[in-house]
Amino acid sequence: MKNQPPKKYIIDAEEAESMAKSRGLTLPQLLPSLVKSAQNLAHPPISNFAVGVVGLASDGRIFLGGNIEFPGLPLHHTIHGEQFFITNLAAHGGGSKLLYVAVSATPCGHCRQFFQELRGISETQIAIADQENPNYKSFPSILPNAFGPYDLLDLETPLILEKHNNQLSLEDENLIIKNENSVNGYFDLINKNEESLKKEALEAARGSHAPYSGCPSGLALMDCEGNVYKGSYMESAAYNPSMMPVQAALVAYMVAGGVGYERIVAAVLVEKEAVVVR
Ligand SMILES: [Zn+2]
Repeated sequence: MKNQPPKKYIIDAEEAESMAKSRGLTLPQLLPSLVKSAQNLAHPPISNFAVGVVGLASDGRIFLGGNIEFPGLPLHHTIHGEQFFITNLAAHGGGSKLLYVAVSATPCGHCRQFFQELRGISETQIAIADQENPNYKSFPSILPNAFGPYDLLDLETPLILEKHNNQLSLEDENLIIKNENSVNGYFDLINKNEESLKKEALEAARGSHAPYSGCPSGLALMDCEGNVYKGSYMESAAYNPSMMPVQAALVAYMVAGGVGYERIVAAVLVEKEAVVVR
């Protein structure tokens, strides 16, 4: 990626500390005060219900996310605010744990389930910021008797915030590479960047969290200036809350400051052939 992510989606540890200090708050107390900024990152043209999510990762950085809706597409393409947040956190290596998270409204069941894909979520503290005095409570208090990764996997299998290295190569015979281009006026640019798009999509597939299906996949998008943004497929133990690679790549696009889907002119998807899901 050529552009550094603008700070509005990620706040460095040092900046987070100084923000908290200047407001006379602890870091956990700072999070609910940033929820409004996170809501401003949301694009919910269908529901007009902006969800904002702000979390403190174990490396000291603060990550933000908002919900994204796509008019004209089936509702299941929606990126929930919490999924945006978790994708942002995972893509930028926010440490191994989510310590605290504040959300603008009580999370839907889909998102509570997606949070289960983080190791140690039972120790995460969550605050619902639409209440007058948001207090933190332990995550299991909003999802008791949870079904999660350990019901299907052994304890050693890497989860979403942990390193994945799926053994895939562009030379693999069982690899599918799909291209989607909007060529109008960008033929040369697309041609020039085709190999780098494939490589980025492969890299995303290598980092994909797909322990349930064994079908890792990754997607790379290119904008009209030739910048490439990649996203990894991330599965949920409950299957339906899984994050598709195109949505993850759109999160990367937005975190890097991308605005307007019409600026995206090419996409490459890399996935395994002859697997149980696609
Ligand atoms: Zn949700």
